[in-house]
Amino acid sequence: MAKITFKTPIVEMQGDEMTRILWDWIKEILIEPYVKLNTVFFDLGLDQREKTQDKVTHEAADAIKKYGVGVKCATITPNAQRVQEYNLSNMWISPNATIRAALDGTVFREPILVKGITPFIPSWVKPVAIARHAYGDIYKNRELAVDTCACERPCRCTPPCGCPSVKTAKAELVVTYSDGTQDRGIIADFDGCGIVQGVHNTDRSIASFARSCFKYGLSFKKDVWFATKDTISKTYDHRFKDIFETVFQNEYKADFDSAGIVYEYKLIDDAVAQIVRSSGGMLWALKNYDGDVMSDMVASVFGSLALMTSVLVSPDGKFEYEAAHGTVTRHYYRYREGGETSTNPVATIFAWTGALKKRGETDNNKDLSAFAARLEKATLDTVEAGFMTGDLTGLFKLDGIKPIKLSSRAFLEKIAQYL
Ligand code: NAP
Ligand code: MG
Repeated sequence: MAKITFKTPIVEMQGDEMTRILWDWIKEILIEPYVKLNTVFFDLGLDQREKTQDKVTHEAADAIKKYGVGVKCATITPNAQRVQEYNLSNMWISPNATIRAALDGTVFREPILVKGITPFIPSWVKPVAIARHAYGDIYKNRELAVDTCACERPCRCTPPCGCPSVKTAKAELVVTYSDGTQDRGIIADFDGCGIVQGVHNTDRSIASFARSCFKYGLSFKKDVWFATKDTISKTYDHRFKDIFETVFQNEYKADFDSAGIVYEYKLIDDAVAQIVRSSGGMLWALKNYDGDVMSDMVASVFGSLALMTSVLVSPDGKFEYEAAHGTVTRHYYRYREGGETSTNPVATIFAWTGALKKRGETDNNKDLSAFAARLEKATLDTVEAGFMTGDLTGLFKLDGIKPIKLSSRAFLEKIAQYL
């Protein structure tokens, strides 16, 4: 059979550890026998990032901007231990952060639903996708301890400090403009020790976030919910609500109407109550902290981080696909010692199919889109027939089918039989 070809390249980013191994096996067993891959390749493995002083990550980000579709393997974000392990000259920042900043993008996470693995919320028959705003709020905050006690400053007591207060304190919010004018507001008067925090966001970043969310809704035909607490936060959260509304009305309402999808703003507590009673299927857009918390909740409800995909979407419509999990270090160390591992490749397979489908769409290449859909179906069929990796066997319940645990490679070969 002739291999499927495609015209515009996909940006391929290889990564680290166990997912690096899975990456090559997925290509070898499930993609390259059927598709003549046309990729612009970047090795984002930590050795290569060190060798190029992280230039390779920036080049990869530029390539995604140029070609519009990328697929990325999980990569190590170095910490102090990794700096030693890999003899690094620098604690390089997370490649995902570099790429996200370059594309001004938003990360969308979406679970892969498979029969036999029932979400803990059984009414969720369609995936709940989460969009987390990736800029500002408490992740770029300034916080101070307020010490009014008699002991030294900073107070070294284990909180709560029981020492008597010898002074009071006033915390104020001050904005100084370049023309010297100021806006001020009192945050709190302290007559005992405490804490204070300042956070910010920008209209530009919020509007980009809104655009990415509406683009994603249109691209995947999903209703979009945005939820925050504007009744309490009448300036800060309300600004988010207003920007979403304006961007929607001015730029997306007509397209949403013709696609038959809707945008709704909800109070966050109301949204939580509604979502657990819903059948799923929507995109739930959230501020930075809310998205951090709720994406872990949604992943747990659906059963496994290894069944969660992640897409970075820029406001001008560039797409980067990856698995939501990391490099699965513990499994890699076992693999390196010659042991067999049963690491789940499903989310990484879906990162590839996501990119191939998107390229099929942008190039108007039906064969490529159809192949991606076939590979997704074969993957799900394999699990539904009872063949899976070890992380899923304990979760799997389907009448008459006894789950069989396979090694990663044997699982990929089994999928090839269903393809
Ligand atoms: P992780 O790689 O996601 O793994 C955490 C644990 O979750 C694993 O030890 C494993 O549990 C389970 N797990 C995750 N993915 C699995 C899969 N596909 N199949 C089976 N089990 C899976 O997270 P981490 O250990 O916190 O991080 C490891 C490295 O990944 C770090 O260097 C981190 O910087 C990096 N990371 C990268 C990304 C990214 O590139 N997007 C995201 C997160 C983390 P058991 O060991 O119990 O089997
Ligand atoms: Mg989290």
